[in-house]
Amino acid sequence: MTIQAAYYTGHKTFTLEEKDDPAPGPGEVQIRVAFVGICGTDIHVYHGNMDARVGSHRVIGHEMSGTVSALGEGVTGVAVGDRVVVRPLDHCGQCPACQAGYTHICHKLKFLGLDTDGALQEHWNVPAHTIHKLPADMSLETAAMIEPLAVAVHDVRRARLQTGETALVIGGGPIGMLIAMVAKHVGANVILSEINPNRLRLAGEMGFTGLNPREGDVAAQVTEITGTKGADVVFEVSGTQPGVDLMTAAAATRGRICMVAIHAQKAQVDLFRFFWRELEMVGARVYEAEDYDRAIRMIADGLPVNRLITDRHPLGAVQQAFEALEGNATAMKTLIRVEETA
Ligand SMILES: [Zn+2]
Ligand SMILES: [Zn+2]
Repeated sequence: MTIQAAYYTGHKTFTLEEKDDPAPGPGEVQIRVAFVGICGTDIHVYHGNMDARVGSHRVIGHEMSGTVSALGEGVTGVAVGDRVVVRPLDHCGQCPACQAGYTHICHKLKFLGLDTDGALQEHWNVPAHTIHKLPADMSLETAAMIEPLAVAVHDVRRARLQTGETALVIGGGPIGMLIAMVAKHVGANVILSEINPNRLRLAGEMGFTGLNPREGDVAAQVTEITGTKGADVVFEVSGTQPGVDLMTAAAATRGRICMVAIHAQKAQVDLFRFFWRELEMVGARVYEAEDYDRAIRMIADGLPVNRLITDRHPLGAVQQAFEALEGNATAMKTLIRVEETA
């Protein structure tokens, strides 16, 4: 038997191929993939920025949902037919990070769907320890949002955001928007800085105060909104120098800054402001198991994550799905439907 898989083959190209359907190995679970979300990381792959890491024949995709279709030897606690999502991290268990309990930032971390083949295929074999089961009434389409939501949950947890605090989110893409949603869920007042008018409109509809840096001084506006105090917590999600300038300028005395964005270049940071206001900065990378558990509970409690799903394409149209994202000002989250092509 063979299955269909979408391979990234370099040069902004995906190739649909028939491949063997290997049985899950010992300790592995096979999932019939239902939906796969396209992540910012996947777009980086598409643009060729990660060729050194992924090579030129790789099935990508890690934001997914599906149904267990087979179990490898020795797998317990999960059954064929269970509806699941995958926490796409495989750790070594030996390094200092793993030994300290921080397996999600293992020094030899394998990210499934980048360092190994991912979810853009009809069947995906993954280590059983990466599986999280879904509540019976959660749709598989909504469940594809759990992975990016877990990122946001981890960020908010790392920042120790409390009820009644003011959170400033710099950057209103899918992760920024999800951080804002989680921040509101924990009872914070949420301000979102973003230049895209479509995203600012969505922010307004979701109950966040949207501010556009192209139309005014966001730090001054945050200072005014908070009665000269500034933001208790700032999430830097933009990955830009203006974002880094804003994070220190808008932070309250003893404010916490959470670094979410991947800054490929060394940014200039206002260290005087750090000293002067006794600021604190934490890094936040991917998620831990408890972030997945919380994300699943939040969606079950009605967090409206489906509002971010703007586009849907079948597996056979992965190429078109990525092309449609180029310079697209209205797209937020694109989902690939895999199951239908089975
Ligand atoms: Zn992702
Ligand atoms: Zn490790």
